[in-house]
Amino acid sequence: MSPIELNKRQDTILQIVKENGPITGEQIAERLNLTRATLRPDLAILTMAGYLDARPRVGYFYSGKKTMTTASESMMNLKVGDFQSLPVVVSENMTVYDAIVQLFLEDVGTLFVVDDQSYLQGVLSRKDLLRTSIGTQELTKIPVHIIMSRMPNIVYCKKTDSLIGAAKKLIERQVDSLPVVNETEKGLEIVGRLTKTNVTKAFISLAETHDL
Ligand code: ADP
Repeated sequence: MSPIELNKRQDTILQIVKENGPITGEQIAERLNLTRATLRPDLAILTMAGYLDARPRVGYFYSGKKTMTTASESMMNLKVGDFQSLPVVVSENMTVYDAIVQLFLEDVGTLFVVDDQSYLQGVLSRKDLLRTSIGTQELTKIPVHIIMSRMPNIVYCKKTDSLIGAAKKLIERQVDSLPVVNETEKGLEIVGRLTKTNVTKAFISLAETHDL
């Protein structure tokens, strides 16, 4: 089967690195007027597929040739940290009404709930909020901790976990997103959000960068 071509942004990144490498991710982002975080998935997948080489503290350079990494090898190497999104966090005492507003303002499907020390306490999905909305008129009075799914039943992952392992958790537990956390002695610090959309984007990138 013929490969799907690199997407436009990936092509542009390759061009920039060809002409300017070694160049840091930060510098590539600057040239494209994007943040380093936005570029992270493309850089991870281009490196994984062998188009680019990355040296710590030096930057990216064009490898000159595509290595023979298979899509399945690359897939096993993808990490949560390269594909995660920013988390949207609310306090346990926020009202259900305000949480719904937040869901729309931030354009996400899941909110993570934290205590006053910012440790993960629960998760609120779209349907958690909908269910409460059709069941009561008191949305401005009920705090979200009453209706959220709570610890210790929250399924989460870490930045360094494999993307495929996290994807399995999403499917097996039938949830739309996982908090990405740092485990500390005091609790779980939220550092990201991994959604089915992040996994789907990684899947498309694999097709774009490998001969399938
Ligand atoms: P929705 O309910 O909108 O379809 P989900 O499938 O993500 O969205 O959520 C299903 C249920 O699982 C909800 O009650 C939600 O609170 C809970 N939930 C969502 N994400 C997690 C998670 N990472 N860990 C534990 N429970 C979760």
